[in-house]
Amino acid sequence: MMNNINATKYNPINNTTKVQFERTSAIIGSNVDVPARRVPRDKPFLLSRMSLKREKHIKYFTRHLELFPSHYIPYDSSLTSLVYFCICGLGLLGALDYLPGDRAKWIDWVYSNLVDTGEGFRGSESHKVKGEYGPLHDPANLSSTFFCLAILAVLEDEDMPVRLDRQKIMAYVKQCQRPDGSFASVSHPIKGPMGESDLRHTYVATGIRYMLGLGPDSSTQTPDIDAGKTIDYIRSLQTYDGGLGNMPDNESHAGLTFCGVGSLYLLNRLDNKFSNPLIQWLSKRQHPNEYGGFNGRCNKDADTCYSGWTQTCLDMLNCLDIIDPDMNEDYLLNHTQHNLLGGFSKCEGNYPDPLHSFFGLASLALTRPGKHNLQPFNSPLCVPASAVDHLSRLKW
Ligand SMILES: [Zn+2]
Repeated sequence: MMNNINATKYNPINNTTKVQFERTSAIIGSNVDVPARRVPRDKPFLLSRMSLKREKHIKYFTRHLELFPSHYIPYDSSLTSLVYFCICGLGLLGALDYLPGDRAKWIDWVYSNLVDTGEGFRGSESHKVKGEYGPLHDPANLSSTFFCLAILAVLEDEDMPVRLDRQKIMAYVKQCQRPDGSFASVSHPIKGPMGESDLRHTYVATGIRYMLGLGPDSSTQTPDIDAGKTIDYIRSLQTYDGGLGNMPDNESHAGLTFCGVGSLYLLNRLDNKFSNPLIQWLSKRQHPNEYGGFNGRCNKDADTCYSGWTQTCLDMLNCLDIIDPDMNEDYLLNHTQHNLLGGFSKCEGNYPDPLHSFFGLASLALTRPGKHNLQPFNSPLCVPASAVDHLSRLKW
């Protein structure tokens, strides 16, 4: 019996090596568009239990928006991200009418996090510093700015061009860019970019730029990032197996890969030369021995959020059909969906959280369009598609 368990646990598909990759490349050639290979099924499905607990998910998100449980206190500096996950989750469920309080209240709450200089948003109002020390100790940060703009778009705030100064915000985003093309999350008024460079900051910088109405080749007078350096920096992070790490030659990671792919997509620079080996690596993230869930790195366990990170990448690369949606649905609905509390957890047996709950729904919206009564999802900006429609109507 033990031998059988060990035999099924070992998964050669996910043990990618450089040799294996080179052999695969030699077989399919470097110019093949889509190295499609569905993951073989070796576990039965629990079709009878498969249903989305819609009402429970709505209650899960509204309960958090009313009052986040005490164990979220250490995450107060990232409060805008938690609200983003909950509001986007409600948006995917087509349930924004269930927001506690009216939309105007939530829109005003978002603007309460705009820093005094108008350069962007802070993560939480409790970090507000008034007066002359505000710019030094209460700077805007790129992640919170992305989350706040996304919330405003999901809530279809018509006043974004009036209440936001995109000249100031884009000037700040530009200040956060380093000479090598990477981004820091904050910029000091004198010292310039501060903190580590990270692909996540690159993604939110390109997302902010897009949400403020700057197109791929914007020629407006608005300050802008150096797109050429940004693209070169992202390409330098692609490893031998096709995925992206956080530094050259670092291990590929699906979340960071999403950040790189999303940035290139938003800058209209996602081409075949970059994407062919990447598609192969992404196709190997589905984990047949874990009910068809996805992992973020080779030999790691499946995790709900990686269904989202991986599938958004494949959607942008126009080859979402190479995964097995039945297995993915089985993993999410029968193993990480919480049938009592609502929401999705990271993996089977854990408690749900807003991030994984949002990505569980996003994955189902992408791979099961029209099913489960979910609204369409926009992969590049990671929001319900209605938010992107709203942004396209704004006049800056
Ligand atoms: Zn996760």
